[in-house]
Amino acid sequence: MNKVAHYLQEHLIGEVMTAGDARKYFSTDASIFTIPPAIVVYPRNENDVRKATRFTWQLAERGRIIPITARGSGTDQSGAAIGPGVMMVFPAHMNRILEFDGKTGLVTVEPGINYAKLQQTLHTHNRFLPPFPASLEYSTIGGAIANNASGEKSVKYGDTRTFVDSLRVVLANGEVIETKRLNKRELSKKLGLATFEGEIYRNLDTLIDENKALLKKLDLKTTKNSAGYALQEVRRKDGSFDLTPLIVGSQGTLGIVTEATLGTEVHSPNQTLIAALIDDLSVAEEVVAELRKLPEMPSSIEVVDKNLLEYVQTHNPNQLKGILATPFPQLVMLIEFDSTSERTQKKLAKRATKILDRHEVSYQLETDAQKRDELWKIRHSAAAVMAHSDDKTRALPIIEDGVVPVDRFKEYIDAVYELFSKNGLQAAVWGHAGDANLHVQPFLDLGQLGDRQKIFKLLDEYYAMVIKLGGSTSGEHNDGRLRGPYLEKLYGIEVYDLFRKVKEIFDPYSTLNSGVKIGVTINDIKPILREEYSLDHLYEHMPRS
Ligand SMILES: Cc1cc2nc3c(=O)[nH]c(=O)nc-3n(C[C@H](O)[C@H](O)[C@H](O)COP(=O)(O)OP(=O)(O)OC[C@H]3O[C@@H](n4cnc5c(N)ncnc54)[C@H](O)[C@@H]3O)c2cc1C
Repeated sequence: MNKVAHYLQEHLIGEVMTAGDARKYFSTDASIFTIPPAIVVYPRNENDVRKATRFTWQLAERGRIIPITARGSGTDQSGAAIGPGVMMVFPAHMNRILEFDGKTGLVTVEPGINYAKLQQTLHTHNRFLPPFPASLEYSTIGGAIANNASGEKSVKYGDTRTFVDSLRVVLANGEVIETKRLNKRELSKKLGLATFEGEIYRNLDTLIDENKALLKKLDLKTTKNSAGYALQEVRRKDGSFDLTPLIVGSQGTLGIVTEATLGTEVHSPNQTLIAALIDDLSVAEEVVAELRKLPEMPSSIEVVDKNLLEYVQTHNPNQLKGILATPFPQLVMLIEFDSTSERTQKKLAKRATKILDRHEVSYQLETDAQKRDELWKIRHSAAAVMAHSDDKTRALPIIEDGVVPVDRFKEYIDAVYELFSKNGLQAAVWGHAGDANLHVQPFLDLGQLGDRQKIFKLLDEYYAMVIKLGGSTSGEHNDGRLRGPYLEKLYGIEVYDLFRKVKEIFDPYSTLNSGVKIGVTINDIKPILREEYSLDHLYEHMPRS
């Protein structure tokens, strides 16, 4: 490996390290897995990325596979930001905003820019990037793009894929391409290229042609989904063609993003927030269904359950003091409207309160910024669970991101409670009620054999349940090494085969984040379990979840 590191040191401008401490630091992300990289690289520019990928391609041609893992801030919970070969860390240098167009709202950035920093800059222009993850303070745009991240505003605005306009991508062989939606004429030019890019376009075009019926299986009945490859979004009915939606959500397994142009929305500083206290899960499901039918979708429909609130109350009694009285309701639902017109916002909030009145649900409505912030603390108190540290027991991200069709919300929560109680675990639930996307993290000790075995039992039972409900294994956190083994069960063998072909088209030697998403089994992940779970490298920046 030293020869490889030497070559990279000689040819790259960015730093190349093989020291033990650097390798140790990058051997974990926010998942339950660990793999130390052989080499850590801080690319200075696209040319560094190009040269490194070109080199690993050439080695692969000679039979030596050294995979490259692109990395943002390593907050990935699926084990996709770790890998055994070259760890390419973007926030070190490639972290700039390159351009903002005030007229179109389009912003062009390098992948390593911190999400919150970009959001702050956009706010000064009265714009924002809506699909931000809860981890925005300490994660990057590159990671959000690669995971197709989404969050508390996605019920109205959609996921990251909705906002990515175009990308610059370094392919497995070091070629650099630009992706954007192409019309038929532009596509036929690409199809005629004698390069690897041309080969990719030709192979994908044929694959899509030959599998039109299968592609329909990719559209699940959920309102969000981060699992698999979004092959169904590449070619539209009008014949236009775009690799962007495929690269978004591909977790660095098809190409490495070096530049991204994203759309933004007008940011309204004034919002109306309603905190509804709901005791009946059927009522919660009906309220969500009715809210989703309003003329304008609420910008958030979030939820936390009684178990979570009681957990917070026990571990940090001051956190909810003066905000929420005991006894807690079964669910607190936060419903937000952010329309730029105050009149529309008022009208929508009135209709929402009518829905709540009809269901005899009590609620609190706030427009004052400080009061709204206080109510949001209820939802953001979920961070207390993530910070749980009782001896070596931690809240583990293993079944933390399932999503089901919204009309099965009640069945979903009931099934989660049942699963936890059957396994003798306490379930604290929070998440995006408007999308029926729930976060649950069981308290387990990775150092205990019994708990390690329980993890794999829970994985099987939980993902079988989510799939049976017509849901997806991941609403926003993606597949990685954790959920890759469940992709075939989710979509069926034929679709999984299609994914395998997509991977082969882009990455024939598997030098791009191999072992992530595709071609990973439960037996592959058992040996890479960490002995102890911690998010130490992120704690200082962890305000909420
Ligand atoms: C407390 C907590 C809360 C979270 N909340 C949310 C949430 O609300 N919504 C959500 O969607 N996720 C959430 N996540 C998961 C994760 O934080 C997000 O998906 C985030 O966007 C990842 O960004 P990152 O910079 O940390 O990426 P990393 O973890 O470094 O990488 C993530 C993936 O992106 C790939 N990647 C990174 N850069 C590039 C690049 N330049 N080119 C190609 N591939 C690249 C990596 O290889 C990896 O596959 C949460 C995680 C934690 C720990």
